[in-house]
Amino acid sequence: MRAVPNPVFLFASLKWPGMQYREVDATREFLLRLETGADWRTEIEEFADLKGIDAAWFQAMGAVQDAEVWFYDQDDKEYQSVRFDEPLEVAACVGNVSDLDGDRFAHTHAVLSRPSGQSLAGHLNAATVFAGEVYLRAFEEPLVREHHEPTDLDLWL
Ligand code: ZN
Repeated sequence: MRAVPNPVFLFASLKWPGMQYREVDATREFLLRLETGADWRTEIEEFADLKGIDAAWFQAMGAVQDAEVWFYDQDDKEYQSVRFDEPLEVAACVGNVSDLDGDRFAHTHAVLSRPSGQSLAGHLNAATVFAGEVYLRAFEEPLVREHHEPTDLDLWL
């Protein structure tokens, strides 16, 4: 009889032992409708402040009136910023809430699209909400970002 791989054993012998993980307990779930004219990321951060949420994962969709998208240059280890002053669909948006230097930070990525259906995407630093719908799931355990030497980014765990 052939041995069946034990999933627990496989998990315990990760090929890349530097991978970090933790088990989390989801505590609360929220649906938000963002306010027209507000900043997309700031609205999520202010909601987290209001509800005392130190860690969360969210997904969202909607439309924005403009957007500032960042791209992290892995060689220079600097963000490059590009601004779009045009209406865009938020075809998809995903992010998480964590502690960055003592403040709640909504790390937000988005795929935005133009009237033609052409998309642009990246780290969404800022965008003026036209309409936004967010599903947010909060966790009991806080996420705290710290400097990560190999990437020069502030990462959690
Ligand atoms: Zn990012």
